[in-house]
Amino acid sequence: MSDAAHLPGFGPDEVVIAAPASPLFRVEVTRSKKRRKTVGAHLVGGVLRIALPSWMSKTEEAHWVREMSNRFRRKMSAERLQLVERASTMARRYDLRRPTSIRWSDDMQSRWGSCTPSSGTVRLSTRLAAFPDWVVDYVIVHELAHLDVAAHSDEFWRLVYRYPKTERAIGYLIAKSGDGDDVD
Ligand SMILES: [Zn+2]
Repeated sequence: MSDAAHLPGFGPDEVVIAAPASPLFRVEVTRSKKRRKTVGAHLVGGVLRIALPSWMSKTEEAHWVREMSNRFRRKMSAERLQLVERASTMARRYDLRRPTSIRWSDDMQSRWGSCTPSSGTVRLSTRLAAFPDWVVDYVIVHELAHLDVAAHSDEFWRLVYRYPKTERAIGYLIAKSGDGDDVD
């Protein structure tokens, strides 16, 4: 049983750890007496919930947090690496330029997306992968529009607002942003 389970306010079924483990999702560990052997993990709204039997040691817990985080990270990148297809769909649907390449990027700390109009390439922050598809689609549309119009001008926003969930997605990203996070 974890030490935290003995602290006031922490029952065995409550969250004892909430640590950032990856840019894709947060990890929360719960311990349960009802759970005997199996380790459970499911991803809900950007949080990977890992459920462990209450007898597990801290070392085993660390192992399973690592293991499950890696498993879900691989799963998410595999599932969501259809960025090329999504970008094609967005380009076709909203009559925007198709990128020459589009890929996830781990090293975008303060931006959700970026593009290089001269080469037609687009990068999206992997932090977006945990967000709903319609938010990712907005960032794609934003970057595709930049392939034609570099500045955040009226002309640019006219292109972006062809995507009907633009307003909502901007609100969503503002809510998720730390200071200075932006779609460039
Ligand atoms: Zn922009």
